[in-house]
Amino acid sequence: MKPAPFDYYCPRSLDEALALLAQYGDEAKVLAGGQSLVPAMNMRLARPGVIVDVNRLPEAAVIERCDGSLRVGMLARQADLERMPVALDAVPLLAQALPHVGHWQTRNRGTVCGSLAHADPSAELPLAIVVLDGAIEARSSARGTRWIAAGQFFESYFQTALQNDEIVVGASFPARREGWGYAFEEFAGRHGDFAIVAVACAVALEPNGVASEVRLGLGGVADKPHLAPLTAYCGRVLSQRDLPEIANAAVADIEPPSDLRGSARYRRALATNLAQRALTRALASARTACDGLAQ
Ligand SMILES: Cc1cc2nc3c(=O)[nH]c(=O)nc-3n(C[C@H](O)[C@H](O)[C@H](O)COP(=O)(O)OP(=O)(O)OC[C@H]3O[C@@H](n4cnc5c(N)ncnc54)[C@H](O)[C@@H]3O)c2cc1C
Repeated sequence: MKPAPFDYYCPRSLDEALALLAQYGDEAKVLAGGQSLVPAMNMRLARPGVIVDVNRLPEAAVIERCDGSLRVGMLARQADLERMPVALDAVPLLAQALPHVGHWQTRNRGTVCGSLAHADPSAELPLAIVVLDGAIEARSSARGTRWIAAGQFFESYFQTALQNDEIVVGASFPARREGWGYAFEEFAGRHGDFAIVAVACAVALEPNGVASEVRLGLGGVADKPHLAPLTAYCGRVLSQRDLPEIANAAVADIEPPSDLRGSARYRRALATNLAQRALTRALASARTACDGLAQ
């Protein structure tokens, strides 16, 4: 199929791109990797009148460590991160999540920030940034730059806090910290398909083994990444025996959708199972991190 007619702009500076968005408002769409937008346009699910192709913007593909975080610029491809051991070592949850994002062909074009802006509720990178408590940098010509906490960025199915005249210019993923362990688990119909359910987990242990943070997020079970309320399990020494209870608590208030890929009941059972696996691995990796501190 072919897309509906549209006007195409290929700005050579961010200011020019922002001016185009300010001019055309909700008529315009940013084109980054095109791995979600182009299929949607070809199927006529999206019919933007104006395309602002940001692929020629200089210096927008930066990936760098700064202030305890990994900053990923708007044109950094998912595969750029995957090929950067230093970045993956800095953010282990990303290292585990990225191989689940589509196929290497789509990751070669698809951008990290494009995935965040697209806000598919089954997508891995939105889930990872919410669990890590990262932030998204948005810029407009009228209001300049603002940082939006990942927990506030995703609003509903393909809806974010981004305004029509804003571009995501970067994202910040908090780097690995002392005593933290991370795990990502996913089940999809075939490798490379969107997750039926995905779980990301980050656990922090004090040197005495007490859990100071238990963060667990679920993808594919709601209209946006769902962060489970698990603060009740902080301040305790957690053992393997506690994990089924925590996994049940993590899914207690979800109301998963039913669709061709799975019923609500199936998704809930899957979420419970994956949550328990993710908790087991994250706790084990946090313990290893703590042992490393003690030596
Ligand atoms: C076969 C296939 C399988 C896939 N499987 C998965 C999967 O398993 N998991 C997964 O997460 N994704 C999957 N994807 C989607 C892929 O990860 C996309 O790359 C990603 O969703 C969008 O990134 P993009 O750079 O391609 O954005 P685009 O397709 O260019 O844009 C997507 C949307 O985001 C907006 N946008 C993009 N960048 C910006 C920006 N900087 N500022 C403001 N708005 C912006 C666009 O206007 C558009 O509305 C798959 C895609 C394909 C084709």
